[in-house]
Amino acid sequence: MPIPFRRVHARILTLLALVTVLLTGAFTPTAHAVTPIYAGPGWKALTKDGIYSLSPDPYTIVFANTTARSKLAKYFKTPAIQVTRTVGVPITVTTTIDTTPAGTCPTYHRIVVHYTHQPLGQRGMSSAWPCYHTGNGSAWGGHLYMDSEYWEQPAWFSTNPTINEAWRKDISTHELGHMLGLDHPNTDVDRDGRVEAQECVKGTSGLKPIMCSPNRGLKVPAGTGTRVPVAYNAMAAGMFTGDFDLRGLRQMLANYTLRQG
Ligand SMILES: [Zn+2]
Repeated sequence: MPIPFRRVHARILTLLALVTVLLTGAFTPTAHAVTPIYAGPGWKALTKDGIYSLSPDPYTIVFANTTARSKLAKYFKTPAIQVTRTVGVPITVTTTIDTTPAGTCPTYHRIVVHYTHQPLGQRGMSSAWPCYHTGNGSAWGGHLYMDSEYWEQPAWFSTNPTINEAWRKDISTHELGHMLGLDHPNTDVDRDGRVEAQECVKGTSGLKPIMCSPNRGLKVPAGTGTRVPVAYNAMAAGMFTGDFDLRGLRQMLANYTLRQG
């Protein structure tokens, strides 16, 4: 069965101008939904890349080479545990090396992590290339490319080591979210008719979705190229936000069954 291959950009350094206008709460999921749901407050399915659901089968995170494994394995452990425990889809960070070439989907439910200098040819941008199951529209796995610049330059995001490391963790989890079928959930919170970068709902915990673009909705001061340290980022570094991202993944899992009916 051919598995078409799609790609998603994660704009980390460059502000992304989103053009889609979604009204917050327009697609509020209910506890007894009988039809699939593809967006809700703070989350959105990656339907534009063919992903409508998350199957309950386990995923494995593997690595393109030993450098990727040694540099990046630890960043995926926290979100893997979160999804395993709170969504119910097991994700295991393995030590396996998988040399499936770019442009080819790997084995079912494998996420191949790469450590690549400017994978999109643009400064500071990582990317996710999720595949989808052509039979049922579930997230298949694929290739995840982390921009090695975050590690090559010790203060890439911040001169504060804690904040800098929090950013690395957040972006790793953000890209994993794409692999599992989540899109950027930015919405027109201020009702000015535009959906802007960083414009996302905020939950009771004070956290925005980790899938917010740019990552977690942290402000980037114009013209400075630097980040504003935000305390909440360090508090929950690398964690999917319970109010939004995890709720979305649970609905995506429910969609898997709902779409069969
Ligand atoms: Zn992204």
